[in-house]
Amino acid sequence: MGILSHALCAQAAFEASESAATKSLLPIWASSTGTTTSHPTQTATLNQAERCTSIYKQLSDALLVSLDPVQRLLLEENMSPFSRRWLNTLPSSPALHLSDQEFATGVHLRTLCPGALWCRHCGVEITTVNHIDTCMSSTAVSDRTTRHNTIRDLLARAFRSVGHGIEVTTEPNVPGTSRRNDIRVTNGDIAGIAPADFEIKVHALTTHANLASYNPDPSATAFLTKCEESARANRPIPPSGHYSPPMSPIVFSAGGLLAPASRNAILAWRRHIKASTFQFIMRLIAFSLLRSRARLFTLG
Ligand SMILES: [Zn+2]
Repeated sequence: MGILSHALCAQAAFEASESAATKSLLPIWASSTGTTTSHPTQTATLNQAERCTSIYKQLSDALLVSLDPVQRLLLEENMSPFSRRWLNTLPSSPALHLSDQEFATGVHLRTLCPGALWCRHCGVEITTVNHIDTCMSSTAVSDRTTRHNTIRDLLARAFRSVGHGIEVTTEPNVPGTSRRNDIRVTNGDIAGIAPADFEIKVHALTTHANLASYNPDPSATAFLTKCEESARANRPIPPSGHYSPPMSPIVFSAGGLLAPASRNAILAWRRHIKASTFQFIMRLIAFSLLRSRARLFTLG
């Protein structure tokens, strides 16, 4: 689950408090007794968070070595903030309530447990934890459109919350072409937001092409970076005499890992959007990704 055991945390907490107390008390003791003390080393003054991070890194490295390529990709995905957001979200609003199926799906994926032996949608034997991300049944394909549109509408809602006359359009046409992007933001000068188009992409990490390209040491982030570059290269370009704002792809994995440039773009929006609104909408996006998987997942 990515949570350190109490036994490891407690030991780190005790050592951190002991070293902090020693650092504070040694000079007092030295001045009162007239003795000299050696300067505490940097290692001796590591705080609890630093000590726990180090332990977590050691455990993660040991776990990665023991997993197959698909499991390693999914573990990298599970470490992302969007992927683990449901674990630290209080059900303070009906939109943030998880059903039993959604919670069970989250736990299955978090623990790399594939669930049922056979897919109830396409009928094939399930051999990977995240078969739902690559299932080609009509139900799964249709649900991916629902997932994409939900994320598009949530991001548009985030931009609209900026106010100041900002104009946000979904599915805008690229002038002079027959193609559309997902979101267009214009008239955001007062808020300091430049005109821009965005194209939302959600990719499964464990496609055959990705596994073939990155074996034996696949990297989810490297794959999503390629997806980002591909979306940028294939963007609709208005012909001469037509104008549309520059397009940026926003690329997620099915479990919520963001491509690097997409992550930076979303972090930049945080400056313009009210903090509570931004956090709420980001949680809704994380929940929409989990809900999409839960609609397709068959429990074991
Ligand atoms: Zn299937």
